[in-house]
Amino acid sequence: MKVLKFGGTSVGSALRIKEVAKLITDGERKIVVLSAMSGTTNTLVEISDYLYKKNPEGANEIINRLETKYRQHIDELYATPEYKQKGLELIKSHFDYIRSYTKDLFTLFEEKVVLAQGELISTAMMNYYLQECGVKSVLLPALEYMRTDKNAEPDPVYIKEKLQVQLELHPNADIYITQGFICRNAYGEVDNLQRGGSDYTASLIGAAVNASEIQIWTDIDGMHNNDPRIVDKTSPVRHLHFEEAAELAYFGAKILHPTCIQPAKYANIPVRLLNTMDPTAPGTLISNDTEKGKIKAVAAKDNITAIKIKSSRMLLAHGFLRKVFEIFESYQTSIDMICTSEVGVSVSIDNTKHLNEILDDLKKYGTVTVDKDMCIICVVGDLEWENVGFEAKALDAMRDIPVRMISFGGSNYNISFLIRECDKKQALQSLSDALFNE
Ligand code: ADP
Ligand code: ASP
Ligand code: MG
Repeated sequence: MKVLKFGGTSVGSALRIKEVAKLITDGERKIVVLSAMSGTTNTLVEISDYLYKKNPEGANEIINRLETKYRQHIDELYATPEYKQKGLELIKSHFDYIRSYTKDLFTLFEEKVVLAQGELISTAMMNYYLQECGVKSVLLPALEYMRTDKNAEPDPVYIKEKLQVQLELHPNADIYITQGFICRNAYGEVDNLQRGGSDYTASLIGAAVNASEIQIWTDIDGMHNNDPRIVDKTSPVRHLHFEEAAELAYFGAKILHPTCIQPAKYANIPVRLLNTMDPTAPGTLISNDTEKGKIKAVAAKDNITAIKIKSSRMLLAHGFLRKVFEIFESYQTSIDMICTSEVGVSVSIDNTKHLNEILDDLKKYGTVTVDKDMCIICVVGDLEWENVGFEAKALDAMRDIPVRMISFGGSNYNISFLIRECDKKQALQSLSDALFNE
């Protein structure tokens, strides 16, 4: 069985939902994961912000506007009075539910419930549409099987077992529609897999059912060799290794959620990135194979902070690095890049929640300097150390950019540069010109 995930723009209007319905009704049994219609989760975040600020009037105004939009979608989506009615009732029940939260105390728990409504609505709309078209479609409720553990990590054993139960309830269905993004936490509360997390849902499901393929359908023809929002003349990469795709996703290629590759990689299930707007385009295949001897793509991750600790005692006494890393660990802050010298170490982090405490603790061991508003540029491909020439090419492309850190050799697949965020566009364009557009 294949698992297909369609993102927000792919289901962003009645027309798009109809196009997706055509794509998924090819006679093959499948699980279809949907995001909320585009813009919905952002609007639900806005509503939550008003409720946190105890401004129910502000929240109600946005809720009403969003509901009106959904009523229009319903009118355009369904052909028969019966399904138009069902659709309107569906919308009313979800929006009344959201409205009920304008009256009570609003905490993180309530916010998670509000954010979950986008996926609950889009999947129910698609399921009704397929049923109106005579397709044997059922809803698999993600809140019944998608769950994280006490470390907020997905619990694969639970997911596999409970998903199987849900599938067995509907042995004759042709299409299983389910919600991306949403889950329950270890305490049974409604939670989510972080923004953009529907990709992660798809790969967790793929691993749980041992799918033959996981398809991520979006609004672009696969992973491009650079960020198409920033750089001119990018083009799709046809084939990536799991490790290459994971590096690109982690270091900022928005097309994939940072953690989405891992479950597919462990289960060795190929992931295909496809374009809903151009379904016959080949897209990108991510698997255990790779084209050797090539730099494939570049990505950038913003909001990075660099910290340098110069040892107060001469030379890097043994135990110095351990003490430094323990400080980051004690504040649950993960390090992205590391560079060391004889007298000090530089690291980069993206989570600055505990920055001040971390800096205070680090000062016990040396002189500490901080650079904010930095970004990591990650060059990905077959960068095994014995291959010659690639590092020189990438470095040459960066010749006019001030570089704070360089990291190479951590994996066979990447070279990373830490630069100022304001130099990002120039760096990405220059790398594209030197590596792909010569
Ligand atoms: P979805 O809503 O389907 O999950 P996203 O907006 O999360 O879609 O991801 C698709 C977008 O990712 C594209 O429209 C594109 O602008 C952006 N993007 C950033 N980097 C890349 C890249 N290297 N290749 C392809 N798309 C990228
Ligand atoms: N709807 C969620 C978001 O906008 C999840 C997703 O689209 O992947 O973040
Ligand atoms: Mg996405």
